[in-house]
Amino acid sequence: SVAITHLEKRFADKTVFTDINLTVAAGEFLTLLGPSGCGKSTLLRCLAGLTTVDGGQIHLAGEDITQRAVQKRGIGMVFQSYALFPNLTVTENVAFGLKLQKLAHFQIHQRVQQILELVELEDYGHRYPAELSGGQCQRVALARSLVVQPKVLLLDEPLSALDARIRKHLREQIRAIQRELSLTTIFVTHDQEEALTMSDRIALMNEGQIIQCDVPEQLYTNPANHFAASFMGQYN
Ligand code: ATP
Ligand code: MG
Repeated sequence: SVAITHLEKRFADKTVFTDINLTVAAGEFLTLLGPSGCGKSTLLRCLAGLTTVDGGQIHLAGEDITQRAVQKRGIGMVFQSYALFPNLTVTENVAFGLKLQKLAHFQIHQRVQQILELVELEDYGHRYPAELSGGQCQRVALARSLVVQPKVLLLDEPLSALDARIRKHLREQIRAIQRELSLTTIFVTHDQEEALTMSDRIALMNEGQIIQCDVPEQLYTNPANHFAASFMGQYN
């Protein structure tokens, strides 16, 4: 599980949030939903250790990881833009994360093949990113973060650059993989429909605050305030 308590983050000219409290259960798929600029990506970056925090704690499976280095957190992250290495093949891109671990050549090969099968790209290992569709690139990015067996997966709008048909398919695929691995996942989106259809629970954010955190039905039928009502009501 992930426990975030009193988390605070400021930039020089901007306070993003001052008191974020959120718990994600082991194996849960939680969606952070909210309008552009509300602080979703900043919160994920704090969890991943890609930016410092100004107060509060992050616990992972009971351990305080607030000050821990990025590589030692056991957290995988996928970004909106896939950021693959263009000069490496799919297999090499996925294997890259394993280079830091001391694994034998055959073990690396085996792990990479398993993960490529999981994302249904086992026949694309020799291809380069430029020879793949957007959806395929995003599956490579997902494979690359899964190959190191993270305890928590953070997904920052991984589908928003894709067209509607592929997005729907990839939603289902991500959810199926997450269930198969029982992987604790925080998924960021500003798309209400995506949140309502994919999530175990939704944490609705606005201007650096979590407005309501509940199961999808509750957010939709029982919004906590005017903002929640109007934001969720945009769904049709
Ligand atoms: P979007 O849906 O558009 O991705 P978001 O909810 O992910 O939005 P953040 O990227 O977390 O929003 O940004 C939250 C606020 O923090 C914004 O006002 C943004 O301008 C500000 N911010 C983000 N990164 C920095 C930075 N490095 N320096 C200064 N301000 C920043
Ligand atoms: Mg963002």
